[in-house]
Amino acid sequence: MRKRFIAGNWKMNMLQGEAGELARSMVQSIGDIAERVDVMIAPPYTSLGAVAEVVRDTKIMLGAQNVFWEDKGAFTGEISPGMIADSGCGWAIVGHSERRFILGETDEMVRKKIDACLRNGLKVVVCVGETLEQRESGETIEVVKRQTDSALSGLDLKDPSGLVIAYEPVWAIGTGKHATPDQAESVHGTLREITGNILSDLAGRIRIVYGGSVNEGNIKVLLAEENIDGALVGGASLKSDSMAEIIRTAGD
Ligand code: PEP
Repeated sequence: MRKRFIAGNWKMNMLQGEAGELARSMVQSIGDIAERVDVMIAPPYTSLGAVAEVVRDTKIMLGAQNVFWEDKGAFTGEISPGMIADSGCGWAIVGHSERRFILGETDEMVRKKIDACLRNGLKVVVCVGETLEQRESGETIEVVKRQTDSALSGLDLKDPSGLVIAYEPVWAIGTGKHATPDQAESVHGTLREITGNILSDLAGRIRIVYGGSVNEGNIKVLLAEENIDGALVGGASLKSDSMAEIIRTAGD
């Protein structure tokens, strides 16, 4: 049985004070549900310190939304895995579609980031997913297979709980139009097979979560599917009541 995983991606929102306030409100509304579900929140870099203070003695885990693949050196503006860990994070999100498509991140860059995280003791959420154009031209499986093969092949993964795959169809992110449970489960099932071909026995223990317009109204039907182990939540994670309800549903 895989423990469900719910993560909140706050994207480029929240100044330090607001982030601390949102984290405090989440701690209050979530209570002890975080014992039954793995809960991670990813504020922007500048608010990691403020949120780390709030979640320190709670079950809520902290993550960064991105990371660089080198450990130190002349890489102006980048943040290393060690710096992220030093800010209180145990996790990093890599390969989010907004980074792939707006900032030109390639599969190779995503892979280097995953290696750097694992080398530095950080757990990773790796995002994969197709665009609307790719879905409409029947390329969904080809795209997620390519992204997953590149992310996982030959990976030195010792602890399967330290890697979460987020299936995030690009057309569902921030659009209010989530994938149907059938659409999502069909890709999750394939991702489970692809992961099995690469990581053999470990694959059954890897969490595969869905992301794309998840909210408190649709989480239940998505989680009813066999291979959907949780969610990566964007917009709804900025409202503590919505996020608490999503986590509560995952804990039922
Ligand atoms: C995301 O940012 O990963 C995401 C899924 O966003 P939203 O929930 O707003 O679609």
